[in-house]
This record gives sequence, structure tokens and C-alpha cells, in this order.
Amino acid sequence: MLPVVIVGGGLAGLNCARVLHKNSVPFLLFEAGDDCGGRVATEVVNDYRLDVGFQVLHTAYPEARHALHYPSLHLQKFYPGAQVFRDGAWHLLADPLRKPLSAPATLAARVGTVKDRMLLAHLQSEVNRGSVESLFARADIPTRRRLEEFGFSKDFIDGFFRPFYRGVFLDPDLGTSRRMFDFMFRMFGQGDVVIPAKGMGMIPLQLRLGLPRHSLNFKTPVAQAHPDQVKLADGRVVGARAVVVATDGPAASQLLGLPPVKTRATTTLHFATNKSPLSRPIIALDGEGEGPVNHLAVPSQVSHEYAPKACHVIACNVIEPAALVADEPLLKQVLAQMTRWFGKQVETWHLLRIHRIRHALPSQPPGWLEPADRPAVLPSQVFVAGDYRSTASIDGALRSGRLAAEAVMLSGNRLNAQEPRPVR
Ligand SMILES: Cc1cc2nc3c(=O)[nH]c(=O)nc-3n(C[C@H](O)[C@H](O)[C@H](O)COP(=O)(O)OP(=O)(O)OC[C@H]3O[C@@H](n4cnc5c(N)ncnc54)[C@H](O)[C@@H]3O)c2cc1C
Repeated sequence: MLPVVIVGGGLAGLNCARVLHKNSVPFLLFEAGDDCGGRVATEVVNDYRLDVGFQVLHTAYPEARHALHYPSLHLQKFYPGAQVFRDGAWHLLADPLRKPLSAPATLAARVGTVKDRMLLAHLQSEVNRGSVESLFARADIPTRRRLEEFGFSKDFIDGFFRPFYRGVFLDPDLGTSRRMFDFMFRMFGQGDVVIPAKGMGMIPLQLRLGLPRHSLNFKTPVAQAHPDQVKLADGRVVGARAVVVATDGPAASQLLGLPPVKTRATTTLHFATNKSPLSRPIIALDGEGEGPVNHLAVPSQVSHEYAPKACHVIACNVIEPAALVADEPLLKQVLAQMTRWFGKQVETWHLLRIHRIRHALPSQPPGWLEPADRPAVLPSQVFVAGDYRSTASIDGALRSGRLAAEAVMLSGNRLNAQEPRPVR
């Protein structure tokens, strides 16, 4: 039997491969890069583990719970909440249910009002109602309007929601689909925000290790994709029972002539230091909106394996438009802002790396997540997967990969029941 050919070894391609393999369907995966993982990667620099673009896993992700074996990832939790820098001071906004002792500090924080705190609980119970799928059937509007209509004050939206969800969607203006917001808000409420002890790259590694080595081909870009074959960039042609294009959106547009996918860029600057600037393993936010750093974390405070003994690694995350500023002026601006946040200790920080991710996430405006618009098989009979087909997240990428594998198997069953598929 000809194999199913999967183009792209990010989480979508890997999960597609996992499901096919579990069902004894032979496959060949072609990945342009030198390893699997795509946008989820961890680079080791001088014994520091740097996630290539700061990111986290939500334990409540429904697809990830099935596709991944959480215990083997040794997941380490962030503090539930965030701390916001505003008017020259830090303000703690903790989850009162999980951190009841921090309730007085959270109530006293100069971000929003007491009513805003109460609305948060109300919003949580609203997004927890019904199935996850039902969130995507609700009328769609931009996130900012959704929050305004829910009754949150402008102060709370600008001081908390804006920087927090800028970090999640990489969207400067809260223009993202409210469906995506509701989904993520539910995930924050229903589980923990975690990173694997040895870095986010452990997630694709776990998936890769479950696959037969001989089916995986690295440094092998695909130049053309058709329903029954692919042409590799080196000119070889590989016949296929079915072809799944599981690349990022811009690459899929090029390969398949799909409409262009608008994406968001982000830049992460990693610094090494002896002393963490934060007193707990929490995400710190720019509540002033002046940037360039929107959110900051110290992953080594969450998992000590991210840095050598007695050292820390700091991830400063910049979104558009500042994410597009050149290295030298950006570094200068970041250090000036960090000095406002943390004072003289910043002088001891040592830059490890600047990671620039041009196509970090597809933008997800209202209407984006209409399931009917995103089938796993195109009219051309090429199958597709990738976060741009689903929620732009680890969970969405995994889900799209599973759906593509299921669609391939379903089409195979149908064809087997009718007549043998012509192969060449
Ligand atoms: C900085 C950053 C922060 C993020 N934060 C979070 C977060 O906190 N939580 C969360 O859930 N999600 C987050 N995400 C999103 C999440 O990482 C992605 O949605 C997900 O990893 C996308 O997986 P994918 O398989 O769809 O695409 P990709 O990971 O882009 O994989 C596509 C693969 O296809 C390969 N490829 C492309 N063209 C070809 C070709 N012609 N031939 C062969 N191979 C090809 C690429 O090399 C790549 O390996 C973040 C993303 C970034 C970049």
C-alpha cells in the first residue's frame, strides 16, 4: 500500500502521523527543517534552555490531553494570575479561588474596580457552560467589544485584558475573535498554565519518539503537493495514497495556492542573570501600554532545569509593531523599560539570544473560526492541517492533525469499499 505523505513536522503533522500510526496506516513525513516541532522548539545556549518564542501549555486543552502523555513531560506550573506594572508599581492579580490568601492584594491592585473582579467570576462561569464546541457556535465579535458589552471597565480592559491577551493572540488591539477569547479564558480557568521541565521542545519530541524513525525525513522540503504525490525540492517524486499538507499557513498558501494567511510577528529576548526579578513564578505584564516588552516571564523560576544552578533565564516578549524594530534599537528600548520595571539589577543581565518569529500566529479576526470554512480536505482532494485551520494554538494544531488523519482514513475506507484507488 502506498503511504500517506505528510508535509510538515510541526504539532499538526506529528499528531496526524501519530493517529495514522496508531491505526497501522503507513506514512512518510517530510519536514523542511532539521527536526520536528515547527514553532514549538527549545534551543540550548550555554546550558540555558530557551524556548524559541515564549509559550506555554494549558493542561485543560482538550486535544492535548489525548495526544500527549502529561506525566512524562514533568509539567511545571506558573502561578495562577499575573502581575501588572502600572504607575511605577507592581499590582498582583491572582486567581482568588486558587490563591485565596492573595485576595486582599488582588482587591487592592490599582487596576480596574471591585466590580471588574466580580465580573471575572461571572465570565468564567459563562464560558464554562456547555461544550467547547458550543463556544465556537456563538455570535462572533471582536474581543474588546465582547469585554465592553460584558461590563468591564475601560481601565481593567486596558490595564489587564489588553496586555494579557496581547501575549496570547499577539494582537495589539484585542480585535481577535471572541470565540477564541472565550476558548482561551475557559482554558485558563479549567486547568494550569505549564511548561515541560526541560522546555516546550519536549512536546514535539514526545510525539516524534512515538513514531517509526524510518518514516521521518528531515531537511526535505516539499516543492509541490498533489492529491496522489509530492515533488520534493531535490526533484524526487513520491507517490502517495493521500497527501496531508500540515505546514504553517503562509507555506500552505504557497504550496496549494490558498488565499494568503495574515500572520502576527513576535520577538523574544532572552537574558541570563543570577537573580530573578520576580518574587514568584508568574507572568509580568505591561499595564501602561508603552512597551516594547508586553509580557515577561522567568521560565527558570517555574522549572529550575531551564538554567544552570543559581542562575535564571528571563524571556522578554515583544509584539507588533515593536517586534519588527531592528536588534540594536530594540535591545536599547527593552533595557530602558526593564530598568523602569526592575531598577539597577538590569545592568547585570546578559543577552543570550534574540528570537524573531515572523509568522508566529495567524491573525484570528471575528468569523475566522467557522468550522464549515475549514474542512480537513480541500476540493482538490489534498488534505490539510495546521493551526491556521483551527484555533491558533498548540491544541488547535494537534486537533487539525487528528482531523486530517481521520479524514484520510475515512476517504480510504470509502474508496476501499468501492473500487481500488488507481496508484502509480
Ligand atoms: C512565539 C509563539 C508563542 C506561542 N504561544 C503559544 C502558547 O502559549 N500556547 C499555545 O497553545 N500556542 C502558542 N503558540 C502557537 C503554537 O505554537 C502553534 O499554533 C503551533 O505550534 C502550530 O503548529 P503547526 O503544526 O500548525 O505549524 P508549525 O509549527 O509552523 O509547523 C509547520 C511545519 O511545516 C514545515 N514546513 C513548511 N513548509 C514546508 C515544506 N514546503 N516542506 C516541508 N516542510 C515544511 C515547517 O518547517 C514546520 O516545521 C505560539 C506560537 C509562537 C510562535
